[in-house]
Amino acid sequence: VTLEARAGDTPLAADTLAQEVAWASRILAMHGYEDMTLGHVSVRGDDERTIYIKRKGVALGEVTPSDIVAVDLDSDPDNLAEGLHLETVLHTEVYKRRPDVRSVVHGHPPHATAFGATDAQFAYLTHDSVLFIDGILTYDGVPDLIMDARQGALVAQALGEGSALLLRNHGVLLAERDLRWAVLAAVLLERATQLQAIASTLGPLHPIPKELLAGIHSVKYQAGFAGEYWNAWLRELRRSGRAFDMPGEGG
Ligand SMILES: [Zn+2]
Repeated sequence: VTLEARAGDTPLAADTLAQEVAWASRILAMHGYEDMTLGHVSVRGDDERTIYIKRKGVALGEVTPSDIVAVDLDSDPDNLAEGLHLETVLHTEVYKRRPDVRSVVHGHPPHATAFGATDAQFAYLTHDSVLFIDGILTYDGVPDLIMDARQGALVAQALGEGSALLLRNHGVLLAERDLRWAVLAAVLLERATQLQAIASTLGPLHPIPKELLAGIHSVKYQAGFAGEYWNAWLRELRRSGRAFDMPGEGG
């Protein structure tokens, strides 16, 4: 089964989900999320109670389907299997609180992470920023790693009904309707904050008028577009030799 050929609403087997999470990891690596072996992405399975998440110890850019671990949301959140990221609770607590969320990304991309270490306000400067029409939220709790369920629940609470969260002095968290949208949001949050950083050095900011945001959003971020961008990223990974060790890729 090729990912491109899959229809949007077909139930997915665990191995297909693992493959998708591996591709997502590599896309994120290509777009600013590579940080040693840190950063992770997950997806919710069709049974609603199992999530599939990257394990600890491999870099995003080298993740393969065998690095994806199934985690039962009903298991003891403070005693997750060995080999999982310490911050897996960021994912589990968001999924528990938000039945609508089917994919979560956490990472430390330089521009968005730096942005979250300031009091700067997110500005709607570019089309990338318009994806975040509902605002960017901030978790103002301790800047530690989020390692226990209680802390994870506080982060989930800060996210509320939103989809993009800055963890102060730490990184970012995206929670979306599916894996493709989570990856798109993660890439665009990094890009929007990068462009805001560049714009800030050039002159006073000139944001898009508020009343135009909804119109741009509805045209630019139509439901099917995330899949189109996803397929382009897969082609880019293959062209640039970054699809190694993935099923069906040879070499
Ligand atoms: Zn982190």
